Amino acid sequence: MTRILVVEDEAKVARALRDGLGAEGYDVVLAAAGEDGLSLAGSGGFDLVVLDLMLPGRDGIEILSELRRSGDLTPVLILTARDTVSDRVGGLDAGADDYLVKPFAFAELLARIRALLRRGRPESSPRLALADLEVDAAGRTATRAGRTLALTALEFTLLEFLLRHQGQVVSRGMIARDVWNEPARGTPLNNVIDVHIMRLRRKVDQEADVRLIHTVRGVGFVMREGEP
Ligand code: CA
Repeated sequence: MTRILVVEDEAKVARALRDGLGAEGYDVVLAAAGEDGLSLAGSGGFDLVVLDLMLPGRDGIEILSELRRSGDLTPVLILTARDTVSDRVGGLDAGADDYLVKPFAFAELLARIRALLRRGRPESSPRLALADLEVDAAGRTATRAGRTLALTALEFTLLEFLLRHQGQVVSRGMIARDVWNEPARGTPLNNVIDVHIMRLRRKVDQEADVRLIHTVRGVGFVMREGEP
């Protein structure tokens, strides 16, 4: 059974989440304070954590940072009442996998949860595709409209990462962590990431009609067919 930890201090919201997710067949455990949430999450055994940002005591970002520092990679979906770009980037940089702004539709929450749970599982097929771009993760080759792309090893890894998150905005912090394996993000690394994205975009998009790699100003990048 899929186990979800919900860290939320508002009793009404917490109950609604427990009942709603329970009705979908998830096994839900509630924590109302940051400390409880952290110790429960750290104990392992959860497939996903739904984490409110505004909590009494230690807030959601602190809990998330602590969890990631300890090497715990359980997918975390942040719930936040704040909706400014810096809050979103802060959450993603602290190691969140996705976020949802309150108030949200329950169906939207379910869709995000399903997507995160799918991502956590090993890919059944090593072939990834978007429009006429095809990537063979096992053979480490990429083609666009049948034409082989001459990518460096790092560019290939970056492209594979973007493609596995297609349709989803990824921050530079996520790229630093998952492609560069560099948890501490600094401005110099941001510049390095931007340069590699620029080179990758040139190879992938320059000679194509439809652009696939897009910059989301102030947040990061998204891979999708058509403008975001
Ligand atoms: Ca709260």
